[in-house]
Amino acid sequence: MLTIASSNPLIMKAEGDPIMTKPTILVTGGAGYIGSHAALALQQSGYNVIILDNLTEGHPELVKEVLQVELIVGDTNDRLLLDQLFSNHDIAAVMHFAAYIAVGESVTNPSRYYRNNVVGTLTLLEAMIAANVNKFVFSSTCAIYGMPQEIPMTENHPQDPLSPYAASKAMVEQILRDFDRAYNLKSVAFRYFNASGADPKGRLGEDHHPETHLIPLALLTALKHRKSLSIFGTDYDTPDGTAVRDYIHVNDLASAHVLGLEYLLKGGDSNVFNLGNGNGFSVREVIETAKKVTDIDFPVQESDRRVGDPPILVGSSEKAQTTLGWKSQYSDLETIINHAWLWHQKRHGNSNK
Ligand code: UDP
Repeated sequence: MLTIASSNPLIMKAEGDPIMTKPTILVTGGAGYIGSHAALALQQSGYNVIILDNLTEGHPELVKEVLQVELIVGDTNDRLLLDQLFSNHDIAAVMHFAAYIAVGESVTNPSRYYRNNVVGTLTLLEAMIAANVNKFVFSSTCAIYGMPQEIPMTENHPQDPLSPYAASKAMVEQILRDFDRAYNLKSVAFRYFNASGADPKGRLGEDHHPETHLIPLALLTALKHRKSLSIFGTDYDTPDGTAVRDYIHVNDLASAHVLGLEYLLKGGDSNVFNLGNGNGFSVREVIETAKKVTDIDFPVQESDRRVGDPPILVGSSEKAQTTLGWKSQYSDLETIINHAWLWHQKRHGNSNK
């Protein structure tokens, strides 16, 4: 039996030593793909999690059934709601995933991206400062680098965001640098390469509407939800002519976020880290692996390059390894696709069987 001591955060066990409970972390966008995996990793590390999500993209049923944490449905642009949230909860830090991510849409509707990704984040940061919460883990992107000038890309690679989506993330990183200097807000920004995979037990995974990413599209084609998969460009200067990307398992991203948080809680200074697995895989390699994992020879067609796609994106995550002690646990493509396949079959059913 547990007896709860009156003075939080100390909890007394009925027998044995007192144990410390870990603080409460606000996870924005925690009903979405990466945020939900990070929320699960936080819980597994003993943190108390609260999720803020406006549910334009998120999946409340996963919060309810899998994470079983408090879900506040609302927007980062809602200052009143944020003020109430910070005054009603003792929040030690914020992990911020709530953002729009479709690069193509950001070109045709930049206003939506700057309003949500920049203004929403600014509002959130202002509410944090007003509430004396000064630790922030931010979901950034390797897209801020633009066309690679050297491979693997390090954090010092020149920045040239090529879309409003990428620019929105670069702008927030600039705000974070200025807010540290002016208001002592300490942050860790993680620049992700290609987030992929799913919870190894298939409880959580990727489900975007519309879906634009290669691995889920391949699996949805295997599941016959789509007629065929297009290869965008076969004439790149790469070993097999298709574009090469650094696919990083979402659980590896999640574990890095927990380490980034702990780095800040221990008094670490503001910092930025790449998160990739350091290996590049071509579109054809992804497709071949997806066919092998699913055991389904789904239809594939070759089409033109997608505008703005660099031929190769591979990151160096050495800094995260040395500074945070982070290590990618699921770096091989087959494991990544295996976990994603488990999730997709659970989510959509598999009529091939
Ligand atoms: N890709 C493709 N067909 C698709 C979707 C993506 O060939 O239906 C390619 C895309 O051009 C890129 C790679 O797969 O070279 C990864 O694309 P994704 O959209 O998954 O991630 P991105 O690298 O754009 O963030």
